Amino acid sequence: MRTPLMAGNWKMFKTPAETKAFFEKFLPLVATSTHADVAICPPFVDIAAAVEAAAGSRVGIGGQNCYWQNKEGAFTAEVTPAMLKAAGCTYVIIGHSERRQYFHETDETVLKRTKAALEAGLIPMVCVGELLEERESGRTNEVLATQFNGGIAGLTPEEFAKIVIAYEPVWAIGTGKVATPEIAQDTHKAIRDLVAAKFGAEAAAAVRILYGGSVKPDNVKGLMAKPDIDGALVGGAALKPEDFAGVVNF
Ligand code: PGA
Repeated sequence: MRTPLMAGNWKMFKTPAETKAFFEKFLPLVATSTHADVAICPPFVDIAAAVEAAAGSRVGIGGQNCYWQNKEGAFTAEVTPAMLKAAGCTYVIIGHSERRQYFHETDETVLKRTKAALEAGLIPMVCVGELLEERESGRTNEVLATQFNGGIAGLTPEEFAKIVIAYEPVWAIGTGKVATPEIAQDTHKAIRDLVAAKFGAEAAAAVRILYGGSVKPDNVKGLMAKPDIDGALVGGAALKPEDFAGVVNF
C-alpha cells in the first residue's frame, strides 16, 4: 500500500532563525504518529538550518526547485539537484504552478529538472494542475493530460517509479477554496488513469498522488479518506507548527 506523504511548501517565508524555532515546536508534535512520511521544503537559505534541526527525526527536507543539470556552471542564482542532495535534502518540488505562472517554466523544463533531480538521488514531487478558467470550461482533464504527456510521460519507467505527483488546482492554492474531496478524488483518478495508460497498472497503483491547495487540519481528513489521495502538499498551513502537525497527524 502507498504510505501517505505530507509535504510542507514554505514558499518565500522564514529566516534560518525562524526555521530553527519552527522545528523546536513542530518535532515533538509529530514524534509519535507514524502513518505518514513528512517533508518540509524551505527556501534555499534555510535548508542548512532545517537539515540540522530535523536531524534524527522523521522529517525529510526538500528544495522548492532545482536546475536541470547536475554539472556546475555559470548559471547565476540556480542550484543543482546534486547541491541539494549534498546539503541534506531528500525531496525537491518541481513545476509548482507559481514557477509555471511567474517564472515561465514549461512541461519541457519540468521534465528536464525531474530527470536531473532523479539523477542526483532526490525524490521529485512533480506538480500539475489546472487554472480556474480551464476547470470552468470543462478542460481540466485535457490540461492535465497535456502537462502529463509533455512532462512526466518523458520519464523512463525506472525513473517514474521514484517520483511523487502533486495535483494542485491553481484556483485552490492560497485562496482558502479547497477542492471538495469528490472533485479532488475524480481528478486524482484521472491522473492515475493517465499513469496506467503510459506506465502500466502496477506503476499506477504504486505512485503517490498528493493533493495541494488550501489543505488545513480541518479539511485534511475528508481528502485523505478518498482512495486516490495519498497525501498533501501544503502551503499556508505548513508555516505554523500546530497547523502542520494537525495535517500530519490527520
Ligand atoms: P496553500 O498552497 O496550501 O497555501 O494553498 C499549496 C501549494 O501551493 O503548495
